[in-house]
Amino acid sequence: TEAALLANEKLAIAGRLAASIAHEIHNPLDSIANLLYLIKDEKNSAKSAEYLGFAQQELDRVMQISRTMLSLYREPSSPAELDLRELLESVLLLLDRRLAEQHIVLVRDFPERVIIQGFPGELRQVLTNVIVNAAEASGAHGRIAIRLESVPPEEFRGAGAVIEVRDSGAGIEEGAAASLFQPFFTTKGERGTGLGLWVSLGIVQKHGGTMRIMNSTAPDYPGALVRIFLPTRTMATSMRRNKALKAGPE
Ligand code: ADP
Ligand code: MG
Repeated sequence: TEAALLANEKLAIAGRLAASIAHEIHNPLDSIANLLYLIKDEKNSAKSAEYLGFAQQELDRVMQISRTMLSLYREPSSPAELDLRELLESVLLLLDRRLAEQHIVLVRDFPERVIIQGFPGELRQVLTNVIVNAAEASGAHGRIAIRLESVPPEEFRGAGAVIEVRDSGAGIEEGAAASLFQPFFTTKGERGTGLGLWVSLGIVQKHGGTMRIMNSTAPDYPGALVRIFLPTRTMATSMRRNKALKAGPE
């Protein structure tokens, strides 16, 4: 059933997340261990102060990651006010090293805070899925641009936020466009699950939003463009409708 699939995908994501957190935390801890070792034998106090400063920075990073993880697992039962810029930054904090290892150039365009109501853990999952797809599509030395913009209430969709993720990959494969949001549809063979976009669309719709993926025409980003619209207020009606849909027959 759909619910069982979602539970499975959540487990798979939790596993991948645990591995990436271990990876993210290991490196700064390793640096701290080395710095402490150096400080122990350092006679020059200016030098040891410098090492301590570095150790402090690395420790801050570990603490920031653990704070992010704590907020991820404290999911509220009703939509809460959240800042999408902060949410994007916290997603990127966890993906940072991975993107750096791939030498991906990331351009952030989030000039201001954008407050909406929603479920932060779920939205973080959507953003992670989309950014990981962009990284996989653009490969080593690729480019990703992420834009966050608030949408004024006078727009036809009403007030909300738009998040756009563009990449320098090859774009959507021919004939794939119609199937991208289908569960298990992947063009990545064994490396893909084909669940990322399907799960993401479900979450965005639960928030009363829309999600589209198309080819980008921006000169530096000839790959895909994912555009997500999220309303400022998650309407109770759309949440109820989605619940009814989930409970109903396939
Ligand atoms: P997976 O990443 O495991 O393949 P997804 O549901 O995340 O599953 O994506 C489904 C398919 O959508 C991918 O296999 C790919 O063909 C296509 N796709 C998603 N994002 C992009 C992108 N940024 N560029 C090109 N194709 C994409
Ligand atoms: Mg994916």
